[in-house]
Amino acid sequence: MTLFPEMVEQTLNTSILARAKNNGLIDFEAVNIRDYTTDKHKKVDDYPYGGGAGMVMQAQPIYDCYIHIVEEIGYRPRTVYLTPWGHPFKQQMAKDLSKEENIIFLCGHYEGVDERVLEEIVTDYVTIGDYVLTGGELPAMVMIDAISRMVPGVLTNCESKNTESFEDNLLEHPQYSRPAEWMGKKVPDILLSGDHKKVDEWHYEKSVERTKKFRPELLK
Ligand code: SAM
Repeated sequence: MTLFPEMVEQTLNTSILARAKNNGLIDFEAVNIRDYTTDKHKKVDDYPYGGGAGMVMQAQPIYDCYIHIVEEIGYRPRTVYLTPWGHPFKQQMAKDLSKEENIIFLCGHYEGVDERVLEEIVTDYVTIGDYVLTGGELPAMVMIDAISRMVPGVLTNCESKNTESFEDNLLEHPQYSRPAEWMGKKVPDILLSGDHKKVDEWHYEKSVERTKKFRPELLK
């Protein structure tokens, strides 16, 4: 649910997600909240009670938009409100949500959304990081991308790996491709050795090293 459906549709209908959609593995639809306003000037926001800067998205268009989707799919699905004050989005949440048949994402804009409609429809409050963006569209797309990758079949065998960052609380090891030497820098010998056991050990060692350096709190 968004006020800017074209922004979402254009981005999602690209690359791996577009392929997955064409293969019938996932589907997404951007629903324009403005289509559901009962205001004759198509207004969807108003001044905040109690004063303060900016505008607040009103409850009525969002609720009617939500009910329309619920009627279409036949039940009330997990409904995520993207907001800076939500729970941090993590890989585990992406995995969990990938098992849902349907998910609604509510993208806020301006100063936010009337609290009463959030109480009525939202099951999950989620942030993608400790910074404030202009709208929930990019965060929703970040979530949709990460969740879709976890749906079986979306990634080909070559694209999916069980040694990706955040598996077992580790970050991914360094990676190299051809040529074996570039700008005087050589690919570590062990990766050219063909010894899979040694390569695995090296990957693990480098993963731990990198995690210690960049995200030591993951190792706890
Ligand atoms: N006044 C709000 C606050 O202080 O928490 C910020 C509103 S922000 C300008 C507008 C919309 O962008 C929010 O309603 C939310 O949907 C989205 N948004 C902004 N930053 C976000 C983040 N880090 N994670 C998820 N959604 C975010």
